[in-house]
Formats: sequence, C-alpha cells, structure tokens
Amino acid sequence: MSRYSKQEIIDIYNKPLMELVYEAARVHREFHDPSKIQVSTLISIKTGGCPEDCGYCPQAARYHTQIDKNDLLPYETVINLAKRAKENGSSRVCMGAAWRNVKEGEDFESVLKMVSGISELNMEVCCTLGMVTQSQATRLAEAGLHYYNHNLDTSEEYYKEVISTRGYEDRLETLDNVRKSALKVCSGGIIGMGEKIEDRAGMLLSLSMLDPQPESVPINALVPVEGTPLEEQNIVPVWDVVRMIATTRIVMPKTTVRLSAGRTQMSTEAQALCFMAGASSIFAGEKLLTTPNPGEDKDAQMFEDLGLTPTEKQKDDTGKFKIRKSLVEAEEVKKWSRPGHTIERNVEATAKAKEIRKELKEN
Ligand code: SF4
Repeated sequence: MSRYSKQEIIDIYNKPLMELVYEAARVHREFHDPSKIQVSTLISIKTGGCPEDCGYCPQAARYHTQIDKNDLLPYETVINLAKRAKENGSSRVCMGAAWRNVKEGEDFESVLKMVSGISELNMEVCCTLGMVTQSQATRLAEAGLHYYNHNLDTSEEYYKEVISTRGYEDRLETLDNVRKSALKVCSGGIIGMGEKIEDRAGMLLSLSMLDPQPESVPINALVPVEGTPLEEQNIVPVWDVVRMIATTRIVMPKTTVRLSAGRTQMSTEAQALCFMAGASSIFAGEKLLTTPNPGEDKDAQMFEDLGLTPTEKQKDDTGKFKIRKSLVEAEEVKKWSRPGHTIERNVEATAKAKEIRKELKEN
C-alpha cells in the first residue's frame, strides 16, 4: 500500500475538482463495487452529560444545549432498535455512549450484553464508548464486537484548539488497543471546525500511517449546534466534503469511507458526487446521536435514484479473534491524560451555559 506524505495529500486535495473525483472514482472501482453501499444505524445508548469539552459536541455537560439526555438505555430497548434497523436495511449497528472512557462496572457489563445480543441478530456491531484499554477492547471483541470507533477528529496540531480534556496520544493509544484486540478500526474526523487544509491532510496522514489502515473512516461535516463553542462556524462548503471524501479514498484505497454527519446540509446531487468520489457507507435513521440525519425513506429513495444497493453483513470472522484471556484478567488502572490548556471559545461557552442555568433556576 503506497503511503503519501502530508504535502502529497495536500496536493491531492487541491487538484482540480473533476480530476480529483475522476481519480478517486478510478481507485474506488479498483477496490470496491461502486453499486454497493454499506448502511449502519447509530444508536445513542447513553446521551449527554459527558465530562469532556469537545468544542463541537452538544453532549458535553458543560455546554447548554437542547438535547434530550438519557442514562444507559435498557437492553430490550437497544435490541428492539437494532431489530428495526435490520428490517430497514442496516447491516451494522453502532452504539454510542457519551463517556470519556470505558469504566469497569455495571454499565460496561450491560454494554457487553448488548453487543452479544446484537451480534446474535446476525448484524455487525460497532461501539463508540470513548477511550478504551486493551483488556476492555478484548472483552468487547469476545462479546462479539466487530468494529470500535474512536475518531482522531482533526490533525494533532488543531486538536489542541478543539479539546483540552484529553490528548491526541490517547486517541492513538485507544486505536492501538483496539487493533491489538483483533477488532476492526473505525476512525475519522470532522471538517468545518475552523481547521486549515493542512489539518485535514494531517488527520488523513495520521490515519493512513496506521498499520494496517483503518477498515472504516467516517468523514463528518460539522453541524454547528447552538450552545457549543463552535456554534458560529459556517456550514462547510459541499465541495470541501467532496474533496475530503475523494482524498480519503485515494490515500486509503481499501477502507470503507463513510459519509457521516452533515448529510442534511447536502442535496442528493451533492451526496451522489460523494459516492462517485468513493464514499461507500452512510448512517441511516433520523438522528446521528443528537444531530439530524435524512431518515430512512429519503435514503431509500436516494438509493433507488442512484442505483445503489445496501450491502449484506460481511462474512463473520469474530470467531477467529484470538482472544488473549490473560489480558482480560489483567487489572489495568489506566490514567488517561488531561492536558487542561485553555481554549478560549470552550471557556466562553461554559461560562455562557452557567449564566443560562442560573437564569433558568431563578425564574
Ligand atoms: S464527542 Fe464524545 S467525548 Fe466529546 S463531549 Fe461529546 S460525547 Fe463526550
């Protein structure tokens, strides 16, 4: 697999658009069936109340946003949602919990049970639960998990402008733990947070240097949410999304490139261009954790119009996972980093939230 330097990635990104899309479409056809699309459903199993300060996220407890919070959903609710997702054509369920990191205990045991339950529905299962140790990742693999998602979000340099409660190295360590536990890696990022093209290329460089490269790379366009530090960001131009998808496809030819958050901001024509440029997966459903998504009916119509067919679940290889029992039993007390530097806009959004809450209490 040829690896590209950061400057080469920037040069690819900046190619004339039609040339870029043509090149990406050629690579896409070499490694993937362009008439197929992988459809996943994201279930927010625990929403809001997160202690982190990610500048884009309405689930961070310190910001005041209009999301409906909930504790960990009951097992039956999650299984029923997964069954419905399967009936609607999803081959994979991704469960997301607004946690800083996975903690041992009742909630983690419940998640393991959910993973087994969904796996038994003959669906692929992915989790995004925050930072994870190798023994926790191994237990998830043993329960039947296929993928673990942990996004790098952006370049290492720009990451410091978005999040102060944990470090980039923790992201990479989590991905390493996931990989060592024989799980497939899902990791991508968000564009439109005020980053430069160099940062987009920097993120793709970090992902493409992973060995092996991630099996799944979600590309999200920021959906600015009122109350978050990034609420005033402009909607990212659709051409930037197309360029990012195409560049990801060229730099990581075998990966599944997922056109993720921000699809409600895009026309069907714009999404079609993304599929042409190498996107081969989407999230289905009305919501992506807390942000809006087009909904199954609209997607079904789009698939029909574009002649795309949802893929079946891939051949199961979880049984082949070499689970290292010794790791499962090992007691790991992992201390994840807390850089704690000041990000002005995060501080301002936190102060604004405090004011709003004070006013609400008084009235
Ligand atoms: S992105 Fe995840 S870790 Fe960051 S605040 Fe939101 S839920 Fe928490």
